[in-house]
Amino acid sequence: MQEVDFLVIGTGIAGLTYAYKMANKFPDKKVLIVTKAAAEETNTKYAQGGVAVVFDPENDSFEKHIEDTLIAGDGLCNRQTVEIVVKDGPARIEELIKLGTNFDKEEGGDYKLGKEGGHSEYRIIHHKDITGWEMERALLEAVSKRSNIEIIKHCFVIDLITQHHLAI
Ligand SMILES: Cc1cc2nc3c(=O)[nH]c(=O)nc-3n(C[C@H](O)[C@H](O)[C@H](O)COP(=O)(O)OP(=O)(O)OC[C@H]3O[C@@H](n4cnc5c(N)ncnc54)[C@H](O)[C@@H]3O)c2cc1C
Repeated sequence: MQEVDFLVIGTGIAGLTYAYKMANKFPDKKVLIVTKAAAEETNTKYAQGGVAVVFDPENDSFEKHIEDTLIAGDGLCNRQTVEIVVKDGPARIEELIKLGTNFDKEEGGDYKLGKEGGHSEYRIIHHKDITGWEMERALLEAVSKRSNIEIIKHCFVIDLITQHHLAI
């Protein structure tokens, strides 16, 4: 048995990002990531197309991205959630870039933005057609450089027993 300060389940973009941020913020605390397969074996790795984000404010806007998302969601989206995700998007992508993710660029140096179904503007930032693979690579590399993060692989989490489950 080992004691850690943060337990993270999964090595996809969510788990790795959280683990990295906590390890950076609390350098003297220990972060343990547990994952059921090889570290890179995640949905994140298989995402191909890219990430929809407002990265060209001259031609695009949060309002347009929010409207496109709500239309594509056909009544199933929670507007407040859509607004948070869309407005946070550029900052989250900047974080990934700072961590070492390479997104494709035009010759002039601007990021290449694709246009996909449901989007009225060019806003898909990507790395060739292996965007998820590139983000997973960069995140795993960043995490591997933090000495206070450990990854346990091939360990399937079945149940989380917390204090309130115990009759004490
Ligand atoms: C083929 C494909 C293409 C996609 N294309 C795009 C795209 O172009 N653009 C886009 O934005 N999104 C795309 N997506 C969706 C995107 O990949 C996911 O929304 C995103 O990667 C989810 O990240 P995550 O970290 O939440 O989960 P994941 O990347 O799935 O990570 C989950 C982690 O948890 C681990 N885990 C799960 N259960 C357990 C358990 N019981 N015990 C231990 N570990 C466990 C897994 O092994 C894994 O490490 C695509 C998805 C797929 C499959």
